[in-house]
Amino acid sequence: MELLYQSTRSQGEKVTASQAILKGLAGDGGLFVPERIPVPGIPLENFSKMSYKETAYEVMKLFFTDFTEEELKSCIDKAYDDKFDTCEIAPLTEKAGVYYLELFHGATIAFKDMALSILPHLLTVSAKKNNVNGEIVILTATSGDTGKAALAGFADVPGTRIIVFYPKNGVSRIQERQMVTQKGANTSVIGITGNFDDAQSGVKAMFNNKELAKTMKEHNYQFSSANSINIGRLVPQVVYYVYSYAKLLSNGAVKAGELVNFVVPTGNFGNILAAYYAKNMGVPVGKLICASNENKVLFDFFETGIYDKNREFVLTSSPSMDILVSSNLERLVYRIAGDNPEATAGMMSALASEGRYEVTGEMKARLEDFASGWASEEQTASEIKRVYEETGYVMDTHTAVASAVYHDYKEKTKDSTVTVIASTASPYKFGTSVMGAVNSKYKGMDDFELIDELSRISGTAIPKAVEEIRSAPVLHNTVCETEDMQKEVEKILGI
Ligand SMILES: *Cc1c(COP(=O)(O)O)cnc(C)c1O
Repeated sequence: MELLYQSTRSQGEKVTASQAILKGLAGDGGLFVPERIPVPGIPLENFSKMSYKETAYEVMKLFFTDFTEEELKSCIDKAYDDKFDTCEIAPLTEKAGVYYLELFHGATIAFKDMALSILPHLLTVSAKKNNVNGEIVILTATSGDTGKAALAGFADVPGTRIIVFYPKNGVSRIQERQMVTQKGANTSVIGITGNFDDAQSGVKAMFNNKELAKTMKEHNYQFSSANSINIGRLVPQVVYYVYSYAKLLSNGAVKAGELVNFVVPTGNFGNILAAYYAKNMGVPVGKLICASNENKVLFDFFETGIYDKNREFVLTSSPSMDILVSSNLERLVYRIAGDNPEATAGMMSALASEGRYEVTGEMKARLEDFASGWASEEQTASEIKRVYEETGYVMDTHTAVASAVYHDYKEKTKDSTVTVIASTASPYKFGTSVMGAVNSKYKGMDDFELIDELSRISGTAIPKAVEEIRSAPVLHNTVCETEDMQKEVEKILGI
């Protein structure tokens, strides 16, 4: 049965999955949501013998109904290949009775790879299906992580180009090296003299420049975005929740139908929303535990029903969660409003004008699928140390936020449900903070110096992604003034 998508903010526009992927954002500024959450036609037990790719196909075919079997399988094959350092793709590791779903075995050793490995392929198939000719040009401004994951995903994908702008003095050494060593004839990486906001404004200006769009069209190019609100990023994230539940079944950790809790370190609310969709598909989920760092706008929302971004922005050791506007929360608001686009639009317009909104009592009651908590910088660091000392497992700062929140939750609630923590980055990516937490003698050393030491104390192999950037040649060295960003794009495209 065909599944269509509509905006969270109005009833009118109904589009196919491939159109929703191509457009990214609905015409009224809302997010695309499926008309209903599909349910697998087979029992969950049948998933327990499936590989990651097989699971991916079974889940994605329910959401992307206008893709043929051949199209979808080809996207999946190209995405989940040896860019990942394990054929399990998302391995489940047990330490002291807690399960860690490791989402960091891809090209950039963080969880964005799970979706950005497949999005380029979904996008090019979607373009073909909708008779969009010409090359798709992805423009991205990055504060570090997303840019590299998008570069790795789009590198050498036929029919696409990717241009990434980053603040020359605003990313970590590892992050910069990851980007400037990126291979692929269709990739460009440019440092700008401004900060991240300048990069983002520059990219937005190009997206909205009608003149530029016209010139692009004449040369057979069109812009697109790899933004995290694209349904083509959300749906691939549902897969690993189904996969991990099936793994727990086949390991005998749970019996059929037994509930599992998921703890998710949250920023833009994409990852945990995927878990919520998995629950709505029939995966037996107890609580979805939303973990925040000191930017605890989501914790406050779950506590009070008030979303209020008017607060100080805190820079933490878990930078990918330093967010005050969690875009994907809009999809949850839509659901708890009873799939009501008018109510959702009203709240989002209050968010835009006043920076806050409040859900009704009825809506708040529908949030009982969730629990929430937050961890301070001190708690995050001591959690890394505690888990390392008790189990030998070294986790990154984002995962540690989730782990600290879970520890707290369990103490308070005595909930003994089997629990999976979404582990969103490799500790190698945040070596300075991680090693500084393990032992103060490492404080002040930089990520590169600490790599071998981290490998030694954790007994884990240095990821391929890190080995590579240590020796890889620099392939991109363009730096430009903020006001020259468009000129650089024109130069790259020869227009
Ligand atoms: C992006 C990211 C998150 C937050 O995920 P959301 O889907 O934005 O909530 C958490 N951890 C890491 C390492 C990330 O890169």
